[in-house]
Parts: sequence; structure tokens; C-alpha cells
Amino acid sequence: MSSGTLPVDDVVGEALVPMSGLLRLLMPTSAVGFALKGLDGRYRLANRAIEELLCRPGERLVGRSEEELVPPAAYSLLAECDRQILAGEASARADVELACSGPSRHCSWLKMAILAPDRTLQAIASLIEPATRQQASLAIQETLQRLQEANRDLQQMVFELEQVASTDRLTGAWNRRRLEESVRGEMERMARYGDSLCLLLIDVDRFKPINDQYGHAVGDAVLQRLTALLQGALRKVDSLSRWGGEEFVVLCPNTSRSTASAVAERLRREVAANHFATVGSVSVSIGVAECAAGESWEEWFARADAALYRAKSEGRNQVQVAPEQAGQADSDGYVVANFVQLVWRAAYECGNEIVDRGHRQLFADANRLLAAILSDQSAEQLGMIVDQLLTDVVEHFRDEEAVISAAGFPAAAEHLLLHAALTAEAHRLLDHYRSGTRGVGDVFQFLAYEVVTKHMLGADRLFFGYLRPAAASARPDAAARPGDPQ
Ligand code: GH3
Ligand code: MG
Ligand code: MG
Repeated sequence: MSSGTLPVDDVVGEALVPMSGLLRLLMPTSAVGFALKGLDGRYRLANRAIEELLCRPGERLVGRSEEELVPPAAYSLLAECDRQILAGEASARADVELACSGPSRHCSWLKMAILAPDRTLQAIASLIEPATRQQASLAIQETLQRLQEANRDLQQMVFELEQVASTDRLTGAWNRRRLEESVRGEMERMARYGDSLCLLLIDVDRFKPINDQYGHAVGDAVLQRLTALLQGALRKVDSLSRWGGEEFVVLCPNTSRSTASAVAERLRREVAANHFATVGSVSVSIGVAECAAGESWEEWFARADAALYRAKSEGRNQVQVAPEQAGQADSDGYVVANFVQLVWRAAYECGNEIVDRGHRQLFADANRLLAAILSDQSAEQLGMIVDQLLTDVVEHFRDEEAVISAAGFPAAAEHLLLHAALTAEAHRLLDHYRSGTRGVGDVFQFLAYEVVTKHMLGADRLFFGYLRPAAASARPDAAARPGDPQ
């Protein structure tokens, strides 16, 4: 696996910012058609590209069904994809012909299961790309890959923010305390965003005889060489820690159980293929476990340990994966599903506590609204969320205006005008929403695109350089971490 898991950046306004999968898809310039539909078969969200692909530019697709929107031959293929997803598949795809006035266009249509936190099917996402027959499967794979990579950046944030190393003296790997800090953050993120999280527990096979035969110093050199080897073979997002003695832990954020076992197998193979000075060959046994929802760190670790024990007892130099916990759905499907959210990134922070807190709040509001749209909440509940959202937007604009004016941002007056225009647009949209002429999907798209993507990730970045973070406020949520791993 390559280490190229950092997201591709997008130019938004003047600024180059990393963007999560969902924000990209909602950009009017997205070339990939995107829609989300509820289990009633009606679209909840649809971007501009899908309007074009379905030959309905400018038409509102929200509330409509595929049966109404696509030609009968394509519809029967899409209905078959839905049946597969309803039967439990994480994704299904079809090559369809979409005909406008001219010759029909060949498209790759990928459907993906969107799972609720309890892993039940909540909605179906569609990603549609025009393609030639030969390119179709390649294009759709790339799209999937892009989405998954974009999401991984969330976990990267933890590593970016923890600059002060707590490393093991012999090997330079992280020590146990540092690992536990990292685990705490990752488990909290897993609980909040539903990403999968895996643990590899690595133990050197028959290490005691190496010490006994060649001496402790040679044993130490083996541990150092092994650390370098493992670090070189790991992906950037994964962290290596020395758990103690000749045991190491690799934490793999946003990684499904099947990917983690492939990572483990690659590490095992690299170690076995390496020549270690003086001692020759060395092997490792590895236990892999994916963290299950609601599980404590100790329970999770114990499962990895049990898998490691099995690897030892079944002959060493092998990988064993802990069985899935009850109620845990196919983790690959889960990774795919969780792109349906706005993902906060470290790069979005300007360092001013008030502004950053407001921006995070808007992300949280947008995700709450999206979750509400997907879970078919009542009009009354949706109305409450939309009202809260408007209150938060207005409050954040007011706070931000005070901060940028105090900081001497020279274009503060222009920025205030942008806020006023967005607020007026938000009020107009809300009036339409209340009178039923615009849907809640339109409100979400306004928030995700106009407020978050264009304004927050675009115009706002112009003042970032003027806001000097006070040391204490550089990391506003640092104190809000959960307690120690249980
Ligand atoms: P197994 O395949 O079952 O894991 O066998 P093993 O010999 O690797 O396991 P065991 O737990 O019996 O031995 C681990 C050895 O690792 C014993 C201990 O002296 C040695 N060890 C622990 N820490 C260090 C260290 O920092 N340096 C050196 N050189 N040896 C260490
Ligand atoms: Mg041991
Ligand atoms: Mg050992």
C-alpha cells in the first residue's frame, strides 16, 4: 500500500484547502453525479452533475424517484443494485445508458449502502460518472478510492497536532503512554464519526533465545532494526509504538479489519524477508483486532492479544485476526458509508479559539442536519435543527466580525458585507423552506456549499494570517478529550 493517503487539495476561492469527499461532491463543479436517497426510494440530496447526467439541468431532483428519472432499461439495472444493497451488500454497480436528445451516454453508476450508527441500512448513495465501457470500472474505483482517502485525513489530524514526541529510548518508536493518548483520541473520533479503527499487536518470535545466544546488545540491535523496518513499511497515518519488551503496537485509523490484516501480513512478510546482522532471520507473530462500537480499550486490546496468542500457538510467523464482534457489520462497507458527512480537518483551523469554535459548530450543525435528513425525522424536528443552524450561523458571523475587526484585518468591511449577503440568503431560503417551496436538502446544500465550502474554506482564509493564536488558545478542544481509555 502506498503512503499517498493524503487528500488531494482543491482550490476554493483564493485558497488551497483539503476537502472531504462530501464537500467535493456538492460543489457545482463536481464532475461526479451524486445523490442520496432514503429507503422510500426518494432522493434526499442531489448535486448539479446528476441533474446534467439525467438530462434535467436545473430541475429539482429531491423528492423524486429513479423510476421517474431514468429510462426504463437503466432503471431495471438500478433496481437490481438496490436489491443487492437491501440484501446486505456494501455496494453495487451498473453500467447504464442515459439518453438526452443526442446519442445516449454510457455511465458507471455505483450505489453504496449508507449505514446508521447501529449499522442498519439508512440510505443509498449514488455516484455516477460518464465513462466509456473500458474506462467504467476504473473510473468508479478511482472515485471510491478518492472518497476513502479523503476521509482518512480526519485521523491524520491527531498526528499533526501532537508534535511533542514521547518516544521509547531504545527504538525511537512511540512509548506506551503516547500510544494510550493517541488511542483515546482515535476512539473518540471513531465514536463520533463511525470510522473503523484497527490495532496490530506484534511480538517477536523466540526472542529470548536470541538474547541468550548472542547477548543483550545484539537483542537490542535487532529491536532497533525491526523498528526501522516496521516504520518504513507502515502507511503515514499508522503509528508504531513499543508496548514493552519485544512487543509493538500499530494503530491504524480509518482502516477496516480486512485492510488491517493485509497491512499486518505485509509487515510480517517484510520482517521475515529481511536479513538481521549477526542473527540472520527473525520472524514476528501479529494479532489484529478492529475496535467494536462501545468497546473499551482494554477489551479491544485483549482481543488483539488473544489473536496474537493464536498466532503463536499455531506455529508463529503468521497473522491472526480477531473475529468480528457481535453486531459489527462488514467493516469495508462501513468505511465506504461514512463519507456521508462533513469532515473537519486541522487545516481548517485559524488558531483563534472563537472563530475555530464557530466553524466547528457549523460543521457539527451540517452533519446533524444531514443525519436528520437521512433518518427521516419529523418536519418539526427538522425545523428545530434548521432554526438552530441559522442561529449558529448568525452568532458565528457576529463573533467572527468582532475578532477580525479587533485583529486589524484590512478587508474586514468587505467581509461583513459577505456575511450580510449570506445571512439574507439564509433567511430567504428559510422562508421558502417554511412555506414548503424548498426542501431541507436545499438548506443542507446551502450550508455545505455556500457557507462551509465557499465562505468558510474560501473567503475566511484571507484573514487567517491576521489572527495570531495565543498559546493557550491554539488548540481549543485539547482539553475536551475523553477520559483515559478504560
Ligand atoms: P515467543 O515466540 O513465544 O514470543 O517467545 P519469546 O522468546 O519471544 O518470548 P518471551 O516473552 O519468553 O521472551 C521475550 C524476551 O525479550 C525476554 C526478555 O529478556 C527479552 N527482552 C525484553 N525487553 C528487551 C530489551 O529491551 N532488549 C533485549 N535485548 N531483550 C529484551
Ligand atoms: Mg512477548
Ligand atoms: Mg516474543
